[in-house]
Amino acid sequence: MNCPYCGKEMEKGILSGDGRSNVTWNPGNKKSGGFDRFLGIGKVTAAKHSLTLFFIEAYYCSECRKMIFDTDITK
Ligand SMILES: [Zn+2]
Repeated sequence: MNCPYCGKEMEKGILSGDGRSNVTWNPGNKKSGGFDRFLGIGKVTAAKHSLTLFFIEAYYCSECRKMIFDTDITK
């Protein structure tokens, strides 16, 4: 996927969090390990803490500092 802001290739990764520690993003298909989380590696500064465990496949542009992911709102 190309970034809609700058047109460069975006990096695919996994956005994850468990409500207790930092929300992190890691390139590829793996969620961040507990140790990365402890060190704050891949921390997503925009994330606000909640109480639920989650992970989302998200594309990241380091140039524009934007993320894109597909979603739907259930009704
Ligand atoms: Zn961009």
